[in-house]
Amino acid sequence: MEYVSTRGKAEKVSSAQAVLQGIAEDGGLFVPTEIPKADAAFLESLTGLSYAERAKKVLSLFLTDYTEEEIARSIEGAYGGGKFDDAAVAPVKSVGELSVLELWHGPTSAFKDMALQLLPRLLSEALQKTGETKETLILVATSGDTGKAALAGFADVPQTKIMVFYPDGGVSDMQRLQMVTQEGGNVCVEAVKGNFDDAQTGVKEIFGDGAFAAKLDGEGVRLSSANSINWGRLAPQIVYYFGAYADLVKAGTIKNGDPVNFTVPTGNFGNILAGFYARQMGLPIGKLVCASNQNNVLTDFLQTGYYDKNREFFKTISPSMDILVSSNVERMLYHMTGDPSGVRGWMEALATEGRYDAGVGMIQRFQNYFWAGWADDVKTKETIREVFEAEQYVLDTHTAVAWAVANEYRRRTHDERPMVVVSTASPYKFPGSVLEALGEDATGDPFALLDRLEKKSGTNAPKGLASLKGAKEIHEGSCEKDKMRDAVLAFAKK
Ligand SMILES: *Cc1c(COP(=O)(O)O)cnc(C)c1O
Repeated sequence: MEYVSTRGKAEKVSSAQAVLQGIAEDGGLFVPTEIPKADAAFLESLTGLSYAERAKKVLSLFLTDYTEEEIARSIEGAYGGGKFDDAAVAPVKSVGELSVLELWHGPTSAFKDMALQLLPRLLSEALQKTGETKETLILVATSGDTGKAALAGFADVPQTKIMVFYPDGGVSDMQRLQMVTQEGGNVCVEAVKGNFDDAQTGVKEIFGDGAFAAKLDGEGVRLSSANSINWGRLAPQIVYYFGAYADLVKAGTIKNGDPVNFTVPTGNFGNILAGFYARQMGLPIGKLVCASNQNNVLTDFLQTGYYDKNREFFKTISPSMDILVSSNVERMLYHMTGDPSGVRGWMEALATEGRYDAGVGMIQRFQNYFWAGWADDVKTKETIREVFEAEQYVLDTHTAVAWAVANEYRRRTHDERPMVVVSTASPYKFPGSVLEALGEDATGDPFALLDRLEKKSGTNAPKGLASLKGAKEIHEGSCEKDKMRDAVLAFAKK
């Protein structure tokens, strides 16, 4: 299977090349030329399988230039070896009238692990396959979650290095600790004297600097990105939609072929787009409900066809969804229109004016697949408290947004098909906001918060977070925002 750019002006590539390149040369995103079909027999065959076996079956439909062995090796490395603290990897729990798909049992307790444990291995295999001899240096600017998940995924992966920039004072204590304690011979973490925008702008400028790329080339290093525009991050996420469906069949909640809905807490539109691919492949998904926080640009877009990022930016208690430009919308538009020149025009308008109008004609098409809603911080906290009181189940702040929107959807549409709420973080990742929502004291150091949440909920904090207590802080480097290039070069030479 080949991959083309959503903007139509780049050469077709194989999946290995798409993973290596990250972004197409015309600035577009790679999409598969056709969407493979998964029929009833395929679905049936998944029921008795482990997560890793399901992943092999689903991913081999997309990564057709990888050998079976390469795919198997990557998947075992990602999901095997006790890296996930639940044998099911992504278990489905029944909570009240809804089901919850828990995607946070990986090493960093957030759903980014589902893809970022696998992407580095697919990339490493791609380097071998294409005969690339240079080292790949992954550059990441992070506002918190992505940095740690990328570090954990790339640590000690052959022929790669990873460098993460975070805003000094701009991430939570726990997030900083998670990053600066990261072990591995190929990792580097630097605090940037500035805010997240400074860090991100710095990284983007480095990616766009041809002269700097040539300099790195001289050191035998090529830059690449691990953010969610890479096809190698999207494809692994398709698997858990199939996995959740197979688990519901196995549990007798549904019969094979029955439709189910999913509600997804959405930021960059990567997670929910993976659900869209699963649906296009033939997985019986009714509606994909797109849940946003107060940064509700996607709610407006899916309801009106008009995308406008020129609006106030809110810092919410679900920070991983504080996004105004959702990159993966571009892929959805491509698949819905099949018109790369249209997509190119919209993305150019977005880049220059911060807005574009996909036209009222798109609204009906969106509504065939999606429903959109949002919840503010007050509603989010209320939801955490209500669900805990009724079900003794603790939602994190992002999942609580989805829960609130899922219920709004059910109330407004009377759609009674089973609903799966996609849960993207452990509540222990955001213990302060969660404790506050539960009416508990939320002051003190991060470990005091973990203890308090353990007592309140009767569950245990994930090992990856609890073990940070007393862990050695390895990465103490920091740099001025205009000195990021020097830091990259110094690390590339190491
Ligand atoms: C990244 C993230 C999201 C948003 O996912 P997208 O794929 O960007 O839409 C939601 N919740 C958490 C906890 C995340 O880390």
